Amino acid sequence: MKIAVKTPIVELDGDEMTRVIWQLIKDRLILPHLDVKLEYYDLGVKERDRTDDAVTVAAAKAISRLGVGVKCATITPDAERVKEYGLKKAWPSPNGTLRGILDGTVFRKPILAKNIKSAVRSWVKPIVIGRHAYGDLYKAVDFGVPEAGLAELVFTPKSGGQETRLKIHEFSGEGVIQGMHNTDASIESFAKACFAYALSEKIDLWFAAKDTISKTYHARFKDIFAAEAAWRAGAMRDAGITYRYMLIDDAVAQIMKHPGGMLWCCMNYDGDVFSDMIASGFGSLGMMTSVLVSPNGAFEYEAAHGTVRRHYYEHLKGNPTSTNSVASIFAWSGAIRKRGELDATPEVAAFADSLESSVLGLIEEGVVTKDLVALVEPTPALYESTEGFIDKAAAALSRKLA
Ligand code: NAP
Ligand code: MG
Repeated sequence: MKIAVKTPIVELDGDEMTRVIWQLIKDRLILPHLDVKLEYYDLGVKERDRTDDAVTVAAAKAISRLGVGVKCATITPDAERVKEYGLKKAWPSPNGTLRGILDGTVFRKPILAKNIKSAVRSWVKPIVIGRHAYGDLYKAVDFGVPEAGLAELVFTPKSGGQETRLKIHEFSGEGVIQGMHNTDASIESFAKACFAYALSEKIDLWFAAKDTISKTYHARFKDIFAAEAAWRAGAMRDAGITYRYMLIDDAVAQIMKHPGGMLWCCMNYDGDVFSDMIASGFGSLGMMTSVLVSPNGAFEYEAAHGTVRRHYYEHLKGNPTSTNSVASIFAWSGAIRKRGELDATPEVAAFADSLESSVLGLIEEGVVTKDLVALVEPTPALYESTEGFIDKAAAALSRKLA
């Protein structure tokens, strides 16, 4: 008998090799076991083009209405893709559009298997990175100073009040200056999403910055996080989790000898840098999931990798492929578990656990796709095709549920 899912899940289809994998996962791992209504939005690049990207906006609104979505990787078109797919124009990144509408923060989480060793010996539990995706260096104004002169920071109040001028530097020759900003509203949204995620996953939360040097800018982040921590104190005590503020260099030093199992919240630049460090430390792109959390409590799950274009071209030529479907499968299990939690249907969340443990069980038996062969110990003698891996996962899941 199929397990009934109370509330619909928003499904966002995508492009290329991940679209192929998506259908296989749905047909062989999800729909045989769940009685679930999927509110379907096709975010494949041709449909985005046909609807002038209205489908992406509609999908975002559906996620904010229903609370949980699951998304396949999508093409962000550039000039080359516009030609390849005959598009009207280079539509913006769907993830950017979704993030904008949901006002969300992206959390990236590695999937760990016992027989895949991290590059860092102490890392035995996932280190999740939450990156603030607004402002700082990424919206900065740069200026190349051409000659000796005075550089100042000027603020002109809209109210017509007194203008503020601060000296940046008195240049005696050429140099560079930069103007950076952030807003309290954006930092507050980020902090809210971080605490919502940590509470949802029941993991400790770290935030690190450099407030000893940046006594106003970085200190503002620290203060907003502290206010959110104070406001959430009761919920955190109930969940058995803690909040820690650290200096960024201290956090970096500690992370290298920590077992993991926490959410590390990062300012924009730190998140850019450290998310790639963490991803490569844990192994493969095919084993990294991501979730967009809105401050209002909507969740959108996806794989952190792209559409795996090179493999798709092989697939189109009729050649066998060995693409890792694990991150896409975990996007589905993440969404299903969250739906079960929000609906208070533990049998639905338990299905998500079974799906994940079936897949991890296979990997731990040495049944893997090609990208994992070099990472798994002992080294497997052979590897599975894209479809072969999903079929074996389907068989393992059926055995588990029987
Ligand atoms: P990609 O899809 O992340 O793949 C880059 C390479 O990483 C692949 O060629 C493959 O290496 C390896 N790889 C990634 N995922 C894998 C998996 N599941 N299994 C096995 N190997 C995997 O990046 P891309 O091919 O450069 O980008 C393709 C498209 O994805 C672009 O149009 C980009 O806009 C889009 N994209 C979308 C998202 C998203 O929707 N979240 C994110 C990033 C990129 P080998 O070739 O060495 O096997
Ligand atoms: Mg980066």
